[in-house]
Amino acid sequence: MTATMFLYLSSAICQKHNNSWGHPESPERIVHIEQALQDSGMMQYAIAQPFSPATDTDVLRVHHPKVWQTLKDNLPQNGFVKIDEDTGMNPYSLDAALMASGAMLAAIDGVMNNQAKTAFCNIRPPGHHAEIKRPMGFCLINHIAIGAAYALDKYNLERIAIVDFDVHHGNGTEDYIRQEPRVSFVSSFQENIFPFTNPISDIDNMLKLPLKTQSDGKVFMNGWQEGFEFVRNFKPQLILVSAGFDAHQKDPLASLNLTEDDFYHWTQQLVEIADNVCEGKIVSTLEGGYDLEALANSATAHVKALLKQ
Ligand SMILES: [Zn+2]
Repeated sequence: MTATMFLYLSSAICQKHNNSWGHPESPERIVHIEQALQDSGMMQYAIAQPFSPATDTDVLRVHHPKVWQTLKDNLPQNGFVKIDEDTGMNPYSLDAALMASGAMLAAIDGVMNNQAKTAFCNIRPPGHHAEIKRPMGFCLINHIAIGAAYALDKYNLERIAIVDFDVHHGNGTEDYIRQEPRVSFVSSFQENIFPFTNPISDIDNMLKLPLKTQSDGKVFMNGWQEGFEFVRNFKPQLILVSAGFDAHQKDPLASLNLTEDDFYHWTQQLVEIADNVCEGKIVSTLEGGYDLEALANSATAHVKALLKQ
C-alpha cells in the first residue's frame, strides 16, 4: 500500500452530460477541479484508477426498476429532456451517470484491495438527491448509495458510514439508508433550502446537522463534532463521502460562509477517524459546488487533506 497516494477517478463522458444550456451544474466544474489538482501538484500523488460504467444490476441494488426504465426510455436522441424543473438529460446523460457510479465502485474496489487508503471521484452528474423512486435535484441515480450497496454485497461488510457535507441535504441517500441499517448517514446542510427536508433525525442510523443561514466554518465544525462522534461510535469498516462544496461563501446557490480551509480541516478530522476505525479507508465523490474557482480550490483542499495520513 502507498500511504501517500490517492486513487483518482474521472472520465471524459462525465463532461458530455448537460442539464440544459447555462445550467449551474456544468461540465466545466470537473474540468476546473482537475486543473486545480494539476496546478497545486496534487496530481503527482494520484493513481489514475481505470473503471467502467456501473451495470443495471448495480443500479437496481438501490433504485426501483420502473424509475430506471423511465430514465432510459426518456433519454433524448438530441437536445434536452426535463426530469423536473432543475434537472435535465441530454443524449450523454445516462452514460455519464453510469460512469459516475462506476467510478464509485472501482474506487471502493481499489480502497478495499489496499491500492491506496483514499480515493476521490471527480464525476458528474451528482447523485445524493436521487431517491429510490425519484431522480431529482441535478441527480439521476445515487452513486454513493449504489456504492454502499455494492460494498455491502461484494465485501460482506456489516457497517458503512456515509458522511455528506454538501450544503443541501442528501435526501436520496436518506431514502436509501432508511431501509438499510448496515449503512449510517450523517448530513450537514443549510436549513430551509432545497430539498426542504425535515431536520429531525428519527432513525438510529441517521444524524442530521441543520445549519442556519450564514453559518461559518466555526459553526460548521462545531456541529460536526457530534457528527464525527456518531461516525466513531458506528465503527464503520469503510467511509464514503458525499463531497459537495456549495457551502463555500462564494457559492451562488446557497448562503453558508465556509472557505477552502474549512473543507481542509473537516477532511483532516475525518481522516483521523478513518485511521482509527477502518484503516483509513475513505472513498469521496463529488456532489455540488457551483462557483468554479471556489469549487476547484475547495476540492483541492479536500484532496490535500485526504493525503495527510
Ligand atoms: Zn448541493
